[in-house]
Amino acid sequence: KAYQASDQRYNIMKYNRSGKSGVLLPAISLGLWHNFGFIDNIQNARNILRCAFDLGITHFDLANNYGPPYGSAEENFGTILKTDFKAYRDELFIASKAGYDMWPGPYGNLGSRKYLISSLDQSLMRMGLDYVDIFYHHRPDPDTPLEETMGALADIVRQGKALYVGISNYKPKETQEAAEILKRLNVPFILHQARYSMFERWVEDGLLNTLEQNGVGCIAFSPLAQGMLTDKYLKGIPKDSRAAKDLTYLNTETVNSNIEKIQRLNTIAQERGQKLSQMAIAWILRQPQVASVLIGASSPDQLKENLKALDNLKFDEGELKLIDGIVS
Ligand code: NDP
Repeated sequence: KAYQASDQRYNIMKYNRSGKSGVLLPAISLGLWHNFGFIDNIQNARNILRCAFDLGITHFDLANNYGPPYGSAEENFGTILKTDFKAYRDELFIASKAGYDMWPGPYGNLGSRKYLISSLDQSLMRMGLDYVDIFYHHRPDPDTPLEETMGALADIVRQGKALYVGISNYKPKETQEAAEILKRLNVPFILHQARYSMFERWVEDGLLNTLEQNGVGCIAFSPLAQGMLTDKYLKGIPKDSRAAKDLTYLNTETVNSNIEKIQRLNTIAQERGQKLSQMAIAWILRQPQVASVLIGASSPDQLKENLKALDNLKFDEGELKLIDGIVS
């Protein structure tokens, strides 16, 4: 059946400004790292995207190598864009990236101009787009001069292939250097994408300040620690969970070693009248530098549950202390 977006779609979400830019992002965005590849069910992928947009999620995050196999999340996303979202392109803020392993040989990885420019051309082709809204360098490359990588981002903007640029996984010092180069080149650098959750707090140690000083927003990925900060693993490891599939560094061992903390955090969430997932998202949104929390979802129901985080974003000092005590 043809998709018609809900006419309530802008009544639920909260939108935050990304740094000092003109861009408003939904407080919760959707990433397509998992659940959108050729190994996954495309009808489920389509249902998740429709549900997201109906809830006011306007920002979708991709990368060249999301799948598996590499490239297939972009290809599936392109298919669904064409069938479902054609009329809504200008209501969407779409991201892609390059920086990790993508194709064989010396030009399919890291941070050269050669890699970034050809990779984005491939991404655009797979998604059937003329441009992405934001293009990121996915991780720092210690062996390529930062001028070269940032220069490639600048030229991508000048060619009209991306409207804005971002970086991901850069430490504070590298971020500062990148910001200075991009400023000199007059390129709109609006987002830094970083792993941030109650289990992973490195951004609090300098990065958020650096971003604020440069007028750049933070978008926090894996806010649920890939599902650990939900009620999914409280009673063991479900067969169809990400940990059981063992696709990434989330595996049964990681879950088991954190289960006690997860249970204690869950008690705090219950006392707040929230699900653990909702508390985990709200906890990140307490930071003023965070423009958006970038979640993943394997079903529309997970999205709906996670969106309800917006119903209670406030923490008192006591709650924050309790959480610090558990996770530090
Ligand atoms: P999350 O921490 O949000 O984990 C998402 C997973 O948690 C889901 O796929 C699902 O897994 C489970 N989950 C979500 N909601 C619920 C719920 N309510 N109840 C139970 N389980 C739930 O984020 P991701 O690790 O998926 O990362 C999000 C996005 O961030 C990625 O898609 C990508 O766009 C980006 N990212 C960027 C990186 C970078 O280097 N820049 C690196 C990693 C991610 P299950 O399958 O078990 O149901």
